[in-house]
Amino acid sequence: MVGHVDHGKSTLIGRLLHETGGLADGKLEALEAVSARRGMPFEWSFLLDALQTERDQGITLDTSQIWLRTPSRRVVLIDAPGHREFLRNMITGAAQADAALLIIDAAEGVRDQTRRHAYLLHLLGIHQLAVVINKMDRVAFSESRFQEIEAEIAGHLSRFGLTATAIIPISARNGDGVAQRTPSIAWHTGPTVLDVLDRFSAAKPVSDLPLRIPVQAIYKFDDRRIVAGRVETGRVAIGDEITIVPRGTLARVQSIEAWPVPNDSQVPLSADAGQSVGITLDQPVFLDRGDVISTSDAPKAVRRLRARVFWLHESPLVPGMSVTVRIAMAECRGKVALIENAVDPGELTPNGAAIVARNCVGEIEIALSKPIAADIHAANPRTGRVVLDLDGRIAGGGLVLAVDTEDGRSAPGSIGESMNAPAPQKMAAPEVADARSPQEHATHVGELLRSLAPAERIARFRTEVDGRIVFTTSFGLEDQVILHLIAEQSIDIDVVTLDTGRLFPETYDLWAETERRYGRRIRAIYPNHGNLETFVNKYGINGFYESREARAACCHVRKVEPLNRALAGASGWIVGLRADQSHNRKDTAIVSAEDRGLLKFSPLIDWTREAVHSFAIASKIPINPLHAKSFASIGCAPCTRAIAPGEAERAGRWWWEQDDKKECGLHRKGR
Ligand code: SF4
Repeated sequence: MVGHVDHGKSTLIGRLLHETGGLADGKLEALEAVSARRGMPFEWSFLLDALQTERDQGITLDTSQIWLRTPSRRVVLIDAPGHREFLRNMITGAAQADAALLIIDAAEGVRDQTRRHAYLLHLLGIHQLAVVINKMDRVAFSESRFQEIEAEIAGHLSRFGLTATAIIPISARNGDGVAQRTPSIAWHTGPTVLDVLDRFSAAKPVSDLPLRIPVQAIYKFDDRRIVAGRVETGRVAIGDEITIVPRGTLARVQSIEAWPVPNDSQVPLSADAGQSVGITLDQPVFLDRGDVISTSDAPKAVRRLRARVFWLHESPLVPGMSVTVRIAMAECRGKVALIENAVDPGELTPNGAAIVARNCVGEIEIALSKPIAADIHAANPRTGRVVLDLDGRIAGGGLVLAVDTEDGRSAPGSIGESMNAPAPQKMAAPEVADARSPQEHATHVGELLRSLAPAERIARFRTEVDGRIVFTTSFGLEDQVILHLIAEQSIDIDVVTLDTGRLFPETYDLWAETERRYGRRIRAIYPNHGNLETFVNKYGINGFYESREARAACCHVRKVEPLNRALAGASGWIVGLRADQSHNRKDTAIVSAEDRGLLKFSPLIDWTREAVHSFAIASKIPINPLHAKSFASIGCAPCTRAIAPGEAERAGRWWWEQDDKKECGLHRKGR
């Protein structure tokens, strides 16, 4: 129930409770007695004034929920405050609703807040709406006054594509039009308020939607790891194969926990939408608060999203602003990359500015600091709503219209047309530019990191660099230490490896062992099949032995081109380089600006091989058994060999080449 303050929402709810027999025996009489004691005339709205402050101030502060039973269904009425200062509460209330009643005072007519509330219903995706023109007794039940307001509100709704299912003249105080058409409104041939409550279509049951369990917490309980969360939509059952988004990890539901369980026959086998559950999985996969458990049709791992938002903060929302983005239980930093179609919902006049002022609405694109699970609102309202925090408090919120996924694919939204333009099918590509040059940024970040320990360096790099960060591992000693530091701190970094097809068997084994140990997927990037075929046709399967040109071509096909793909669109690249690995690397900076437009970061740049080895042993990090056979770095089997006793450490491939020709091209500029 929405509408301008004092237009009669609470009175209508009180009257509806009375008309539907929803009041406890004696309640009405008790309130009438209280009113008499206070020397106030009885008001139906007193029924709802649960808070003393409301009685004292005469305004509804809370978003009250009232159950009532109509002839054919049970209805929860949410009384959303109409006062301008409480728009936040109005949104909270309306966001939970499947349909709305918009109330207008027949004497006052359509007010700013009426228009604003109507627009916010559209913003929140509530398409079922009936308009109630209240206080008809104050206009002598005038049909012409009713028609005047009817025409004005219908015209306003049509501007953003809403059509009221009914427009009803009532007097909530007297009961006209609430449950019956009385003689005072004999000219009205449409439904009563109770009729429309009965006729609204029921929302699609959330249990019919795909499974979504946003993870709230993970508890260790004896030897079990219990994943706790609420089944927001769908249904989960023991044995279900689940996907954990955004990690992409797969597992099976082993049990659904319940306490106490008197006997085995009462152990739950499944849980439905609305239930809070604790589940265990069949393997010790890593997951964290904010991840979403799903089965079929999983939500997207979103890097960037487009949302239609309502902004409440006194500081306007502007491009480049950093906000905290929350979707279900997930939370991350986000940077506003684009603002379009900003409008004051009271006026519905686009202001043309690329800012969203307080109490206004706009369509925005936000680049996220890490991938989080999200749906388009039209697909799943529970995981398709976004909340924006600024300075530690809620500053805005809205609907997810479109997303860009981690792999760069766009998922268009279909929630509805944008306010003044069609919803975009593909999001704008460019990130918000940093005012510094890339080199200045690299120097700045390098200075911040230099004095820190590697674990802190990685965590700080994550906060300093917006957008996707990629760590490329070849499963060498340094790579394993870096992966350990990333995994132990659960830092949002995309871990990938270039599977050239020529790796050592030991490396493939370590790959699998590392994924098991840290419970996270290490994404393989493979050579392009067509390129590989062309190379083999030209040089032969082992052609790289023949010439430096052939080796460069082989490395390009198997490593450099796949690396370019892995880093496309990334803002940061983490590598396991050390300065004393080779002559070529001695001047490598801890952070450098790559000519591809990202920052390259070597967290172990100033560590010695001995220090890395000691750390790996002390931390029980799985290491490649080839190191015990005197292999210093790990690469392709044909091009990597152990170092002889007393021989200087070497990095890069092509061991038979001269020092300055050993690098394969991965760590050179201008590839
Ligand atoms: Fe080919 Fe050797 Fe380069 Fe590996 S290191 S891609 S096998 S040339």
